[in-house]
Amino acid sequence: MITIDGSIGEGGGQILRTALALSLITGKPFRIEKIRAGRQSPGLLRQHLTSVNAAAAVGDAETSGASLGSTHLTFNPGKTKPGDYHFAIGTAGSTTLVLQTVLPALMTVAATSRLTLEGGTHNPFAPPFDFLEKAFLPLLKRMGAKVETKLVNYGFYPAGGGKLEVTIHGSSKLGQMDLPERGDIKRRLAKAVLCHLPRNIAERELSIVQKKLSWPKKWHLVETPTNALAPGNFVSLEIECEQLTEVFTGFGERTIAAEAVADQAALAARRYLASEAAVGEYLADQLLLPMALAGGGSFTTLPPSRHTTTNIEIIKKFLDIPITCEQTNNRVWRIQIG
Ligand code: ATP
Repeated sequence: MITIDGSIGEGGGQILRTALALSLITGKPFRIEKIRAGRQSPGLLRQHLTSVNAAAAVGDAETSGASLGSTHLTFNPGKTKPGDYHFAIGTAGSTTLVLQTVLPALMTVAATSRLTLEGGTHNPFAPPFDFLEKAFLPLLKRMGAKVETKLVNYGFYPAGGGKLEVTIHGSSKLGQMDLPERGDIKRRLAKAVLCHLPRNIAERELSIVQKKLSWPKKWHLVETPTNALAPGNFVSLEIECEQLTEVFTGFGERTIAAEAVADQAALAARRYLASEAAVGEYLADQLLLPMALAGGGSFTTLPPSRHTTTNIEIIKKFLDIPITCEQTNNRVWRIQIG
């Protein structure tokens, strides 16, 4: 039985999700203690418990400690079962993080699965749907995965009510991928999305993008979808390069000025553009697992985050694969898997 200390490094929910995903794939049982000890409210919140329950359903697993607030869990997987699943978080917890927990296992089994996920779709501190669709999944598809996603309803914090439908065609064999550079930039898009909110918010946000990044109006887009339970707003900056697309997001909140929402996204985009790295901070920690499952891969990135260094430690608990991080110049690191 693999034992994991959930308080190491980042000490957040990703340690648990990576362990669940790899346990399903390898068939190795694990026990985790001190779940999310690095957070203000440690233990399993709804989003994490939904990930555990989703992994248990998909992997026919036996669990103990799978309850709200629990700080320990034992997970003993059986055989992964493709099929139709419905996972509802019950709060605005991130649907994309639940998806990332079961996706690797369902990609490899020999039949199609259809998932309906309910909860948040555009949450601070989690991959928003736009990032999943434009940045993460295209790279996974290039590695060999066959996945289709549909955003049925937007779900924002705190109301939730979002819905994703995902079709995962099985039998994927992931191939290795190297991303030494991003290539030339082909397109930039600054998108301000407003659900049930006044349009002038978007105008204020996009004027900050114009000021901070010098992105002209022809690269701006305002979207006002109505398929959301409650009001919500985000700014999404897409940078489409020859080798990949990066997406940087600022999330609207009741207490945060529109200018600050756009500023959050613009700062992250500026930091990426100022470096020659191919992969941004968030994509870096999320690419590690698929690349390790593929048996290798590499990319250049910004200075590795604690999510990245912690994820490497957890991956090494399940897979016998070397992963190295080496600084190549003052803003660029190279991560080599395998
Ligand atoms: P906790 O409540 O324990 O912090 P969590 O389970 O919601 O946790 P983390 O362990 O912090 O989450 O993991 C968050 C994941 O979301 C990481 O993989 C990170 O890369 C990703 N992420 C966070 N913000 C963004 C963003 N703006 N764009 C893309 N991905 C993001």
